[in-house]
Amino acid sequence: MDTIFYNGIIRTQDNAYPTCSAVAVKNGVIMRLGGDEEILPLALPETKRIDLAGRLMLPGFIDAHLHLLNYIEFLEQVNLSEARSLRQVRELCAAKVAQAAEKGRWLGGVSFNQDHWDVPKMPTRKDLDEISRDVPIVIRRACFNMSVVNTKGMEMLGIMGEREGLTSMLLGFYDDGTPNGIIRQHSQDVLAKAVTIPGPEELKEMILKACADMAKQGITSVHSEDYINYAVDSSELISRVYKELAAEGNLPLRVYQQCAFRTKEQLEAFLATENKPGAEFGRYKIGPLKVFEDGALGARTACLKDGYQNDPGKKGILIHPKEELYGLFVTAHKNGMQIATHCIGDEALEVTMDTYERVMNEYPRVDPRHGIIHCQLMTRELQERFRQLNIVGYVQPVFIESDMNIVDDCAGSELAKQSYNWRAFIDMGVHICGSSDCPVEAFDILPNICYCVTRAKKDGSKTWYPENGITVDEAVRMFTLEGAYASFEESVKGSITVGKLADLVVIDKDIYTLKPEEIQHAQVEMTVVDGQVIYEKQ
Ligand SMILES: [Zn+2]
Repeated sequence: MDTIFYNGIIRTQDNAYPTCSAVAVKNGVIMRLGGDEEILPLALPETKRIDLAGRLMLPGFIDAHLHLLNYIEFLEQVNLSEARSLRQVRELCAAKVAQAAEKGRWLGGVSFNQDHWDVPKMPTRKDLDEISRDVPIVIRRACFNMSVVNTKGMEMLGIMGEREGLTSMLLGFYDDGTPNGIIRQHSQDVLAKAVTIPGPEELKEMILKACADMAKQGITSVHSEDYINYAVDSSELISRVYKELAAEGNLPLRVYQQCAFRTKEQLEAFLATENKPGAEFGRYKIGPLKVFEDGALGARTACLKDGYQNDPGKKGILIHPKEELYGLFVTAHKNGMQIATHCIGDEALEVTMDTYERVMNEYPRVDPRHGIIHCQLMTRELQERFRQLNIVGYVQPVFIESDMNIVDDCAGSELAKQSYNWRAFIDMGVHICGSSDCPVEAFDILPNICYCVTRAKKDGSKTWYPENGITVDEAVRMFTLEGAYASFEESVKGSITVGKLADLVVIDKDIYTLKPEEIQHAQVEMTVVDGQVIYEKQ
């Protein structure tokens, strides 16, 4: 044996052998499970013995939807998530203006949320002009679905001449019909002109830094969406960088790429290369086509069947009309590719489900495992369709921390109480996997597990439909075995089972016996990929 971990509380997620105290690993694979008295005698002089000292060991965590490169970029921009007023936004940005001017770059701010401000009103370009009229500025809303640009930036983007009613862009306008600096949804693609796409070496450094941070949270695999990070299709460059890192043996985590494309043509061009669905390049693997079908609740762009109760006349938006969505889906599906679609509102979900059903009926395939990312608002009837079509749900438990403030107002309590209903999914036998959507939210897994169980605010001040919550063990499964299922890898990882990859995490406390609200404070102390310790808390 190469390594023996012993004296632990090992919770395996394998029903055939749910708990043990020791695990033996050789060549990155789990060879034996059992009690210390059975496993320790297998040690040879060269075997590394790691004393778990009574701590908890789980299968390595899998975050099934995040944006790895975007996470690093966000670290470099002005973080506006804590701002509580427009004035604070101005102060935070003003502090970085000189630096941006010096570099000749745009000043970028991220994660503002005007709902949390003293005056909850969307800012416009004139508000940002007070920070600078000379340096181009763009700030993005926390949900990613809206940006605001100052006048200098609007001029540089060449869109100051757009007029209300005459443009196909999703822009906001002042009463006089001139653009107010707000840019919505895919029209934010125009911001590609505001970013410099890093070169391969810089991209490699970004990936390594992100992986190192994720390893500290016990993450051993991610499903990451990176191809349209720079608004334009960068699939070739980004794939090449990941593959090089993997070939050099330097990719610390397993990365399953959620391949985002806006058009059928881009997808066809991609599939004509070596990037075939499911192709593996060491730890880098080609995952599903990722499609956006609506926006977000906070931006009122999530598409709701009955519209927004707190904003009469507003319904949100469907990004791809039905036939266009069908074109994308059928191209992926016929080529043997999995599909994962962003849907938050019930209307977007219904259109997507109809289109999944249509392609699956027209071109039957065994086990395509298509999925819905976010899957938030739905009736019981819509939820039932996940079971009928074996659609995977990708849920972000941490979203309820802020969404519980707005869902009932947006959609009405009748729909709200049927929504984010993880209990019903599991009772139906639907596969749901867990994720953070980082950098929309932090990728810390233990707080996510906590929200699954408590359905409460971080500080416990409010609980939201707690009957829709799940157990600790079910929540752990969402972030381990179900994440593996979502990438067709449940037979090789996701549980501590003999013959599977030795991807493991060690946590200071047994979260199964803690009070649920205390799970968020437990600490990851060690992360193991392929039997190698890639992170150890000092
Ligand atoms: Zn996302």
